[in-house]
Amino acid sequence: MLDKVLIANRGEIALRILRACKELGIKTVAVHSKIDRDLLHVRLADESICIGPNPSAQSYLNIPAIISAAEVTDSSAIHPGYGFLAENADFAEQVENSGFAFIGPKAETIRLMGDKVSAIKAMKKAGVPTVPGSNGPVPADSNECIKIAKEIGYPIIIKAAAGGGGRGMRVVHSEASLLKSISITQSEAGSYFGDSTVYMEKFLTNPRHVEVQVLADGQGNAIHLYDRDCSLQRRHQKVLEEAPAPHLDPEARAACLKACVDACIQINYRGAGTFEFLYEDGAFYFIEMNTRVQVEHPVTEMVTGVDIVKEQLRIASGLPLSIKQEDVVLNGHAVESRINAEDPKTFMPCPGLVNYFHAPGGMGVRVDSHLYSGYNVPPTYDSMIAKIICHAPTRTMALKRLSVALDETFIDGIKTNIPLQQDLVEDANFIAGGVNIHYLEKKLGL
Ligand code: ADP
Repeated sequence: MLDKVLIANRGEIALRILRACKELGIKTVAVHSKIDRDLLHVRLADESICIGPNPSAQSYLNIPAIISAAEVTDSSAIHPGYGFLAENADFAEQVENSGFAFIGPKAETIRLMGDKVSAIKAMKKAGVPTVPGSNGPVPADSNECIKIAKEIGYPIIIKAAAGGGGRGMRVVHSEASLLKSISITQSEAGSYFGDSTVYMEKFLTNPRHVEVQVLADGQGNAIHLYDRDCSLQRRHQKVLEEAPAPHLDPEARAACLKACVDACIQINYRGAGTFEFLYEDGAFYFIEMNTRVQVEHPVTEMVTGVDIVKEQLRIASGLPLSIKQEDVVLNGHAVESRINAEDPKTFMPCPGLVNYFHAPGGMGVRVDSHLYSGYNVPPTYDSMIAKIICHAPTRTMALKRLSVALDETFIDGIKTNIPLQQDLVEDANFIAGGVNIHYLEKKLGL
């Protein structure tokens, strides 16, 4: 097992990783920006190092500072968490070249999946269902573009190969605006991502967001941990997630889960990963793969009993997966509310001093949060301050449990989106299950 892990992240995920390390007897190093000295995991880690000023570019994205911190603390591995450098192939490469284990896939896998055109190609080859599209970058020849778009059928979506965070995409409803939209998306992609390659896909009008969690050890073993539904989104940000995804077509689901595992073997995947799909009319369409642990991983942990972060640490130690596919049994249902420090009406971030924090509790209630009474939420980073996860034998009971837990949560001093979350768990359409990715924005009148 690894001896000492440097946690290259902050907030709740840094605490989540720290807890897993402690349970496995692994020593921990917290790295933090100046403003983050008071983070809970910094106080609890065996060692901590300030790696730079508050802006992420100078601290949590500062590769030389992080690698130097690993060197001076004699760490054996670096866990990137999610966000920041988690899907940065150059970082993964530099970490491994400096003699540390990167807790994630190999740099070449991150690169393959980071470019959506190459990711889709690899997935197609492995038998994962993809969206009908241009099968590669749009050609330079205008007539050829028009022909391909006609074959796909309007509406289509033009997407940047290097895109991320919901940026670099444009929907086209008819041939009249096709060529102009392609050139605008290309130039946007060039300035956002430094790569102007774009491709075309059929635009699905009523999709749900369904994703598949996988684990693979890079030694020929891969398993899936079933699926999650994360359709409740605002501006491409997930708000509330659940596992398993409700009301899926059983045959399509079984085929998709198998295809994801096959794909992991084919690309020799290592670590935890998520295949993201759009799901419409009983069919799955791959959109991208996330090569890291995700924010919503706890819902899967609750229904499978598998500790995803501990498995990541085992895999990085060179150990094989501790579980086989037949050991993974779904048990009940889990839902997660992301609690953000923001104004529930305007969605403007609302950082500041938390005078008092009371977390909910009781059977089947899990709170992943770095919050404590007296903690000052800085304005510099992501506004997510807690995840409240509820697990129960049925979906109805899990939603009820979440409703009770949200009522019990007190965060005094800053505004949060708890009122929105309370509203959502009582929403009749959401309770019925299977709303699409536009549902939340429509409900909010956006
Ligand atoms: P990013 O990496 O920016 O998150 P994705 O490829 O995951 O990009 O797409 C982000 C979001 O854009 C999806 O969650 C979905 O809402 C929408 N989207 C992407 N592709 C399609 C498509 N083919 N049809 C409909 N919506 C799409």
